[in-house]
Amino acid sequence: MTKGTEGTPLMEDTALAVLEPATEALLASVPRAGADEVDVAVAAARRAFPAWRDVAPADRARLLRRVVEAMEGAWDELALLEARNAGKPLASARGEIGMAIEVFRYFAGAVERPHGETIPVADGVAFTERTPLGVVGLITPWNFPLNIACWKMAPALAAGNTVVLKPAELTPLTALRFAELALDAGLPEGVVNVVVGTGREAGRRLVEHPDVAKIAFTGSTAVGREIAQRAAATIKRVTLELGGKSANVVFADADVEAAALAAPWAVFDNAGQDCCARSRILVERSVVDEFLSHLQGAVEAIRVGDPLDPTTEMGPLISAQQRERVAAFVGDGAEVAIQGRAPEGPGFWFPPTVLWPVADDHPARHEEIFGPVAVVVPFDGEADAVRLANDSIYGLSGSVWTRDGAKGLRVARALESGNLSINSNSSVRLTTPFGGFKQSGYGRELGPHATDAYTEVKTIYINTEGK
Ligand code: NAD
Repeated sequence: MTKGTEGTPLMEDTALAVLEPATEALLASVPRAGADEVDVAVAAARRAFPAWRDVAPADRARLLRRVVEAMEGAWDELALLEARNAGKPLASARGEIGMAIEVFRYFAGAVERPHGETIPVADGVAFTERTPLGVVGLITPWNFPLNIACWKMAPALAAGNTVVLKPAELTPLTALRFAELALDAGLPEGVVNVVVGTGREAGRRLVEHPDVAKIAFTGSTAVGREIAQRAAATIKRVTLELGGKSANVVFADADVEAAALAAPWAVFDNAGQDCCARSRILVERSVVDEFLSHLQGAVEAIRVGDPLDPTTEMGPLISAQQRERVAAFVGDGAEVAIQGRAPEGPGFWFPPTVLWPVADDHPARHEEIFGPVAVVVPFDGEADAVRLANDSIYGLSGSVWTRDGAKGLRVARALESGNLSINSNSSVRLTTPFGGFKQSGYGRELGPHATDAYTEVKTIYINTEGK
């Protein structure tokens, strides 16, 4: 086995080795799609588009509900596959598949919702309608593999587009199984296509393909930047859900214990491989000691281990490369203040870790770590909290903890971020828009806004006066 260009194990030229991060064992070998296979998938999606676009809304909704039923029937199977392939606790994987199912149910309902305006104009009337884009390319990461793919597929299909999905090469298994389920549920051939390949080969071809109308991407800011540049050549529509370095702001007047006990799960969930991870914990100086003492107990109690053990709360990282990357953030001005336990190898383990104090210019303060590592940073008063929280190229999510309702709202409104929570660390809801400010990307997923990202607005004018 050799290393591919992105650190992905390549078994031979034509196959990708899919590993189980908890054991490092080979889970599957998947034929590797290159540019030619992407072209075949795009051609299939293009052929299927006119008929899918023209399916009567009620029928399209019915077909998508059948996909919901098929996923419900395969819930356990999909969750097990995701838990093993992504190394996440089985209960978390079940929850994610549950959300993916609900996303399809929600957007099946959206098919028949009205979405246009009537606008009075001189000598007649104009109305708008939303029309599908055509073939949409979806490029997704490995941290929430099927869930994030469904955030894109469900609104895209509901709006009448056909899709080519390129899942992350490390975690393609649930996407492949989904494609079978969708076909069995009655989606016409060519409506959902999955190509498993590397970003540099398959991903790049999808981005450059002239017959792809849009790329919906979730992944790192570096790759998002490259995709936006390449997509410009064909003026493709692009939405980007990128990285984050979110702040968890804890004021002295908060329930400090509640904030400290909740903080680990805002970073260490999914072993910290979460774009919404609130990995910068900003604490008002007068309560730092109190906060750290509660945090310590909570972090040390986290059960890290086999994803299939029902008592496990945190699994391994996705790969050896990711573990190396995460480890490089620790030390040299960012000292370990609190550390949990992790199993010895095999498996890509890394213990939950809190760094404190951390030098102002240390990379752990500013860069997305994407692993179970948080930094604690003290602040002095409201203005300082806002300044520190906004001192980031990212703006995806964040939290404010305080018992002063007006202050909570004021600070949340002042933070440059797409999703904020007050006295909570939750970011993602099926029915509310999700997406980033600044270099966390653009476009919104979930909720009613998601449909906008998969349609064009068309204006039709009717002359009623004959002039
Ligand atoms: P990544 O950017 O390395 O890869 C994401 C996807 O892009 C993969 O499918 C990969 O094969 C593909 N890709 C890589 N290079 C490409 C290229 N040149 N052209 C086209 N496609 C290419 O990201 P990752 O490591 O898989 O995921 C982690 C990142 O995703 C983190 O930065 C995280 O914050 C981000 N993320 C963001 C959100 C969000 O909603 N904002 C959600 C989850 C993850």
